[in-house]
Amino acid sequence: MATTQVAQQIALFEKCRNFTKAREVQAAGLYPYFTPITESEDTVVKIGGKSKVMMGSNNYLGLTHHPKVLEAARNALERYGSGCTGSRFLNGTLDLHETLEARLAQFMGKEACLVLSTGYQANLGLVSGLVGRGEIVYLDKLDHASIVDGAKLSFGDVVRFNHGDLAGLERIIARDDRPKGAMIIVDGIYSMEGDIADLPRLAPLAHRHGAALAVDDAHSVGVLGPTGAGTAEHFGVVDDVDIIVGTFSKSLASIGGFVAGQEYVIHYLKHHARPLIFSAALPPSNTAGVLAALEILQSEPERRAALWANTRLMADGLRSLGYDLGRSETPIIPVLVGTMESTFLFWRKMFDAGVFTNPVVPPAVPASQCRLRTSLMATHTKEQIDFALDAFAAIGRQLGVIS
Ligand code: PMP
Repeated sequence: MATTQVAQQIALFEKCRNFTKAREVQAAGLYPYFTPITESEDTVVKIGGKSKVMMGSNNYLGLTHHPKVLEAARNALERYGSGCTGSRFLNGTLDLHETLEARLAQFMGKEACLVLSTGYQANLGLVSGLVGRGEIVYLDKLDHASIVDGAKLSFGDVVRFNHGDLAGLERIIARDDRPKGAMIIVDGIYSMEGDIADLPRLAPLAHRHGAALAVDDAHSVGVLGPTGAGTAEHFGVVDDVDIIVGTFSKSLASIGGFVAGQEYVIHYLKHHARPLIFSAALPPSNTAGVLAALEILQSEPERRAALWANTRLMADGLRSLGYDLGRSETPIIPVLVGTMESTFLFWRKMFDAGVFTNPVVPPAVPASQCRLRTSLMATHTKEQIDFALDAFAAIGRQLGVIS
């Protein structure tokens, strides 16, 4: 029997054959995912031969094309080769990884730091590696998927509390109060809403109940805090946050992630975080690029200032057009549209008008609260922001999202 005929009879694949939703959206010409970029120049990308203003990246400081980042990556490529071909645990640790860990620990105000190959793996390794049998992890319902997945992989109990509902969390944690290990983990900046976790209330709450507090600062490093060290620094509570997770795929212009905290906690994770031990190390060129990006982040605070000036320009412009931006208070600015269908249509029209945004639909958000998520960069020009705002004005009115 031909392979395809055999495959047709495999029950496991039936759901794949019946999965038509994405194909229907593709047939309607509204499919927004996996769009291949053929060239990139910081705030402008080329897709299908046409230039688009990039309003949907996490490249907050605009460092992906910085000459010093590219030079550091190129030099490391020549010196160490194209990959580590093994885990940090065995043959994959470079002096560059250890230098980066030392610099990040110092920058984040923590004793020690562990570098992993993605931010996803950092959360996965932290939660599954640290929360053991008989222990408990409390998650905000809007925590990133990597935290949720880490909790699924852990042998501990998992309890989710409503987004930002600290009174609710306190009730749950008081009810659960048992002499056992517990961790509360939240996002510093929430990736779909753009709001900031209330660490000044969370830290004493956690410690009243003997729980550790961990913060995923994926979107906050380079964005929040007087020196760009993230949410804890923003609120002046670095010493009250036990563990900080970060990623290199946003402000630090590369790929990779880290966990920072007390030395003995990091030492434990080095020997218990399976995504670290059983996956290959961050490549040399990325590690060197992140080291260069971190140096620029620290020596050029004007980039952070430009990011916030651009954020205000965009948020004020969208609000004055009549858009609902939800709880956003950061460079992540979601623009509420409504249904999934109208959001895909809005996305397509923005795309055709030359603005790249990200549609956010269920399960990431409730069905009636679909949105286009924009995120600002330090390197956007005023002209690019005005261009995007003009498109939002014209298309929003045309589709009846604003009047
Ligand atoms: N945490 C948050 C809040 C994120 O938004 C992301 C990426 N979207 C991650 C973790 C995972 O980071 P990475 O892309 O480095 O795997």
